[in-house]
Amino acid sequence: MSVDTAATVAERFRELYGAEPEGVWAAPGRVNLIGEHTDYNDGFVMPFALPHTAVAAVSRRDDGVLRLHSEDVEGGVVELRLDDLAPESDKAWTAYPAGVVWALGQAGHALTGADIHLASTVPAGAGLSSSAALEVVVALALNELYGFGLKGWQLARLCQRAENVYVGAPVGIMDQTASACCEAGHALFLDTRDLSQKQIPFDLAAEGMRLLVVDTQVKHSHSEGEYGKRRAGCERGAALLGVDALRDIPYGELDTALARLGDDEEAVRLVRHVVTEDERVEKTVALLEAGEPRAIGPVLVAGHASLRDDFRISCPELDLVVDTALATGALGARMTGGGFGGSAIVLAEAADVETITKAVEQAFDTAGFTAPRVFEAVPAAGARRVS
Ligand code: ADP
Ligand code: MG
Repeated sequence: MSVDTAATVAERFRELYGAEPEGVWAAPGRVNLIGEHTDYNDGFVMPFALPHTAVAAVSRRDDGVLRLHSEDVEGGVVELRLDDLAPESDKAWTAYPAGVVWALGQAGHALTGADIHLASTVPAGAGLSSSAALEVVVALALNELYGFGLKGWQLARLCQRAENVYVGAPVGIMDQTASACCEAGHALFLDTRDLSQKQIPFDLAAEGMRLLVVDTQVKHSHSEGEYGKRRAGCERGAALLGVDALRDIPYGELDTALARLGDDEEAVRLVRHVVTEDERVEKTVALLEAGEPRAIGPVLVAGHASLRDDFRISCPELDLVVDTALATGALGARMTGGGFGGSAIVLAEAADVETITKAVEQAFDTAGFTAPRVFEAVPAAGARRVS
């Protein structure tokens, strides 16, 4: 993020609130390289941060008032009283930052108020975690201004609680941890059971490769309900197999586990996806650590097939990106994020990027789909203070 952006956000804060902000912070959106729908099964994920960020200019107040403003939403400054914050009381965008303030208070980190102005370059609803970026930037700012001394993973937990309980969305821990903890030039290998982390060098440019994000611009209205169903289905599968979470089924014991599920076709599919997906994350880490980044291509493709056929959360637009990219020379491709729309990623040789991009755009045009937004993703920094 440029110094200019920080200055613009600070200037807007002055216009809105009539004083200098105490500081400006940024938190990124993320793309998930591999490890989809594993984070609520205590499994593995491997996201990296995008250069796109939510930026917040913030000052403390001492009168119990929270004022919120977003550059990207119409409606002006929203004023709330800290005493009035209550779970699921707010259906607007303000539930994300207000939820963070609520979650901090619930955890014993009480504030006396804040003025917050936000602006974000993370596209909302594209599967790139605009919501987590918003939560994490607010949490980081308040943590620093109020001297709570919380670490990145602790902020991520509080932000997840804000989204689960205050907003009312049953999301896992990946997005918030990615935004809070990622490092430039690395993907984050995260164990969502204990939040242990390992930064894995992921510098594709140095290897002559690129990673494209293709935002299909599709957002299916039923995605939230379907997410809940998959989550409940995974929990049912774990219960049938007598484990706390599907993470506890080792890959080597998958066939035995599936046999125990018998003709429960839905449980078989969901369990198979989660267990094989955890294995794909571990394989991806091993390949990157062995200096074989091109070899992750087929692992991404297998991940897409599993999400499409077993987890059943792809859609025609996502499948078209993957099929077209692979047919025009991509090393690998898969849908990323929650599914039913959002974005796909494409791993390609730098020299093939133009051909693949054109082919995907052409295929969308021919199919009569809305034109996709294609951009290159370079692993960027996690949440930080910018001024
Ligand atoms: P994703 O996180 O994949 O982008 P979500 O549905 O989880 O999608 O979060 C999108 C929501 O986050 C938006 O509907 C809006 O309420 C909020 N949001 C995201 N970016 C902004 C922003 N710049 N200003 C205000 N609200 C935002
Ligand atoms: Mg989100």
